[in-house]
Amino acid sequence: MPELPEVELVARALDKLVGGSRILAAELLRPRLAPESSPAGFAEALRGAGIEGVTRRGKHILFQLDGQRVLIVHLRMTGRFLLLPEERELPKHTHAVFYLEDQRRMAFDDQRHFGLMKLAAASELQQTKELRALAPEPFSEAFTPDYLGGVLSRSRRTLKETLLDQTKVTGLGNIYAAEVLFLARANPFSVSAEFSRRRVQRLHRAILDVLTEAIAHGSTMNVDPENIDGSFYDGSNQGRWRVYDREGEACLNCRASIRRLSHAGRSTYFCPRCQRR
Ligand SMILES: [Zn+2]
Repeated sequence: MPELPEVELVARALDKLVGGSRILAAELLRPRLAPESSPAGFAEALRGAGIEGVTRRGKHILFQLDGQRVLIVHLRMTGRFLLLPEERELPKHTHAVFYLEDQRRMAFDDQRHFGLMKLAAASELQQTKELRALAPEPFSEAFTPDYLGGVLSRSRRTLKETLLDQTKVTGLGNIYAAEVLFLARANPFSVSAEFSRRRVQRLHRAILDVLTEAIAHGSTMNVDPENIDGSFYDGSNQGRWRVYDREGEACLNCRASIRRLSHAGRSTYFCPRCQRR
């Protein structure tokens, strides 16, 4: 599942590729992709809409449309956009198509069918159920060590669970949460409220460092307009993780063997020596 850096890079790629374009017509092929619109309503609302730009909030992609409207998109597991010339066939799991004015088509393809789209008025965007509960953006001024310390002090859940909760910290998923905890040398299973206040600064720093590094690395890569998927960055990052997916390998700090514990179908990777508490 794409996490904040991948969604950021997808949004930037879309902004570059379709920002300033106009949607001549839109087709919703799988109605449940946009459960709050009918296919006819979706088509009607998007006909003639100008795309002013593409941004991101949390793991949501935001198409800023003229007329003070926003198309919110969540890629979830396998959602991806493809910009296709007229002659190219649509992929098998195309759930929506946007016909742009320069003969290009922007398709939304989603093999696993978990993606979501929703139209909202720009003035109500922050109040939508998708966005209203999200924690502050990690790179915003509101996301301070004090904020993070406050969040942790009020939670009896594990550090990892708190980092994954988008209403507490936004943008981290299973991979980057593991990387952050490793960099901060914090045990994923520690109770959040028992994490010492003097270590919060380091955890906060690790969140920003891991996200910054991932975005910087991803921005050096070429984006294929015909396959703008959220994993284009993951895929090439194999071998760059510090701890994720390294079960049995030597810890980069201390050479101890990296462990993996599985809970609720998700793996947690950590160094049993560096991340003792
Ligand atoms: Zn270690």
